[in-house]
Amino acid sequence: MTTRSLGRLRRTDFPYYAAHPDAVYLDSGATSQRPETVISAETDFVGADYAAVHRGSSVATGEATWAFETARERVAAFIGAGERELVWTAGATDAINMIALGISDASLGLGSADLALSAGDEIVVTEAEHHANLIPWQRLAARTGAVLRHVAVDADGLWSLDGMRREVSPRTRLISFPHVSNVTGQIAPVADIVGLAAEVGALTVLDACQSVPHMPVDFSTLGVDFAAFSAHKMLGPTGIGALYGRAELLDVLPPARTGGSMITTVTMEHAEFLPAPNRFEAGTQPVSQAIGFGAAVDYLASLGMSDVRSHEEGIAEALVETVTRTPGVRLIGPAPGDERAAIASVIVDGVHAHDVGQFLDDRGVTIRTGHHCAQPLHRALGVPATVRASASVYTDLDDVARFGEALGEVRDYFGVTA
Ligand code: PMP
Repeated sequence: MTTRSLGRLRRTDFPYYAAHPDAVYLDSGATSQRPETVISAETDFVGADYAAVHRGSSVATGEATWAFETARERVAAFIGAGERELVWTAGATDAINMIALGISDASLGLGSADLALSAGDEIVVTEAEHHANLIPWQRLAARTGAVLRHVAVDADGLWSLDGMRREVSPRTRLISFPHVSNVTGQIAPVADIVGLAAEVGALTVLDACQSVPHMPVDFSTLGVDFAAFSAHKMLGPTGIGALYGRAELLDVLPPARTGGSMITTVTMEHAEFLPAPNRFEAGTQPVSQAIGFGAAVDYLASLGMSDVRSHEEGIAEALVETVTRTPGVRLIGPAPGDERAAIASVIVDGVHAHDVGQFLDDRGVTIRTGHHCAQPLHRALGVPATVRASASVYTDLDDVARFGEALGEVRDYFGVTA
């Protein structure tokens, strides 16, 4: 088994590995390690160039604003968006809430009637959603009288285009779905779903948290209306993420948050909002995090996202091979040989996921246990929790081998026989 090496990547780029030379870090689906270039971009900016952004007319403000907006240009270019189509948010959760709250306001008459939902309109999601792409739609449905439908998953945790076809109807106004499942690693047929949405005139929202860090993604080519992703899963800082939206939609989506820096005119009774993206960026923004986010996409772009995907395909294959040859371990998600992201969630017969996690942790293998913020999916699988290994650019085959060795010892350790 080989993986394509990522030419410019060095583990020494990541201070985490200097601090933990023997670490097997397989929890990048939760949050990723950062290269030195990301850390120093942020600290250099804070140390040398820090000033208010988009406020006042000083040279310092001008320079800080330039750095902030340049970071936006770089992140926008990375995902095939125009600068006006990329809104800074606190993360993907925040971005999805901003869409849902904006549509909620539109439904109250506080914005474009085109985006308004009425009682009986339908929103479609999948049973595989991260709670961040479920609860905001539950709340929107509750506020508007819309009906929230979902595509069920099968015994492996997979949903299908056919299943989506069965849930979509002429009443469907919005389809929101995960590009890559954070539990199963399933990759969605985005173009087909965009086509299905177009047939019924529905908007599409893509939860791209687990795709943008790992494969080439161009939202304008994919044709989705909105998308959300987080910097901290793509080698960048916490506290910042992005909302992508087609410019003409963002210009009419009511802002979920209001206040300073997002207006043109304010009277005691009324406010007019700036065009996108600024209309969504009320208050002081996470400026140094934006600079770090820009450095993170520069780092990924320097590796080349096609090469990142090839590398992680090799890791995914190795994870599947390792898990499927371990007795008493069941792999969730796509069958061996089928396309998947480098995420492998498993159920170990006779041992609770949390005990597996503790056992692996004691052997220096960092993975995630629990429901991974996807309780409905786990309910459908009939287990409260799974054990998830997830990779990133710095993951290598040795990590997979050490995970496999430890996983192979778990059942013996806990005295589980056959
Ligand atoms: N969607 C998916 C698929 C995720 O994996 C996550 C993070 N686990 C989120 C949404 C939420 O991202 P954040 O916590 O960064 O807002």
